[in-house]
Amino acid sequence: MLKTTQSTKLAIFGAAPAFTQKLHVGRPNIGDRDQLMERINDVLDRKWFSNNGKYVQEFEKRLAEFTGAKHCIAMCNGTIALEIVIRALGLTGEVIVPSFTFVATAHALQWQEITPVFCDIDPETHTLDPAQVERLITPRTSGIMGVHVWGRPCQIDELTELAQRRNLKLAFDASHAVGCSYKGRMLGNFGEAEVFSFHATKFLNAFEGGAVVTNNDELAAKIRLMKNFGFGPGYDNVIYVGTNGKMNEMSAAMGITGLESVDDFIATNYRNYKQYQAELRDVPGVRLVTYNEAEKNNYQYIILEIDEWEAGINRNELVKVLHAENVLARRYFYPGCHKMEPYRSYFPNAHLLLPETEKLTEKVMSLPTGTGVTPEDISKICGIIRLAIQDSDRVRRALQDELLATVPTDKQLAAEITVR
Ligand SMILES: *Cc1c(COP(=O)(O)O)cnc(C)c1O
Repeated sequence: MLKTTQSTKLAIFGAAPAFTQKLHVGRPNIGDRDQLMERINDVLDRKWFSNNGKYVQEFEKRLAEFTGAKHCIAMCNGTIALEIVIRALGLTGEVIVPSFTFVATAHALQWQEITPVFCDIDPETHTLDPAQVERLITPRTSGIMGVHVWGRPCQIDELTELAQRRNLKLAFDASHAVGCSYKGRMLGNFGEAEVFSFHATKFLNAFEGGAVVTNNDELAAKIRLMKNFGFGPGYDNVIYVGTNGKMNEMSAAMGITGLESVDDFIATNYRNYKQYQAELRDVPGVRLVTYNEAEKNNYQYIILEIDEWEAGINRNELVKVLHAENVLARRYFYPGCHKMEPYRSYFPNAHLLLPETEKLTEKVMSLPTGTGVTPEDISKICGIIRLAIQDSDRVRRALQDELLATVPTDKQLAAEITVR
């Protein structure tokens, strides 16, 4: 008997997409628009656009208070902030990083001719596996750069102990982790320094922006020089080699305005997270990555792990189903830094040491959340996922047929050869 199903409602079977407009992952969070406009107008009136202006100073002060860290140095973006931290710490040779991160973590090292040594992750936390880190230490290793992926902290105590015991510098790429805590203490206070990103897609955005947060006075002073061409006090007084990492006033105005609304952003993200959790709970093969609710989290990322055998379709197929509905789910992070150039060519065998990374990058995906997504949107998205998995056989066949349709037939190939 033919089982009737609902899956004909899916766009891959020719139905109208569930969303008329594309729903992106990482739509910006915007705070109070009137406050922002007031600040932007003030910047224009004051005609002070950059170089440690009033708003940059205020943003730094407020961020330092927010994290409880002693120093905050605002920058033009997170990547430059990483590069400056790496240089200010005097890292050389090799630095151990996860491959499961945004490629900027690795690039910030390679840009300075330091070798990023890719380390495997703990499959539960998605962050550096401290035991694997230790195995990768060589006489050339100068430091460890952990990444608080999804704002979920690294195993900081273990990494700190390891770095001390092996005399290595430890720093963190905390790009995802504004507003998150570890054992009750805000991220930004660990290692030698931590780096935030305020890119438009991040939890707190400054259009583009970044910051270094540290409790080390000497390091903070050095970083301040470096991000401003090495200019010392007074005029025309260069005392150090530097670059231009400065944040501008418009970005700072956006950052401050966002910072005033972080509680609202978190409340929205948390509501979305709990809704996804409830609506996906019983869907086979779908695991929502959870946050430790005893800690502070920004809940900025809705991350799924798809178990192909349980779900009947794999991650790539589910992403295709969602894209057809105008839900632009992302395979984030895919395929892992070690599979991107130049690292792929430098370390063609890196995958042998990265079994957990390889597994995770094949099954992980992220879904839209944030203040730009409504509860109705989330219900629709979860409904699509449920339908696709309920009727996985037909979904899989439809996607395979679609794939086959793009393969030229023998006749077409023959015709092409004749033409040539
Ligand atoms: C976004 C991001 C960066 C880069 O930050 P930008 O501000 O975009 O330069 C670095 N690392 C991670 C993990 C990120 O997510």
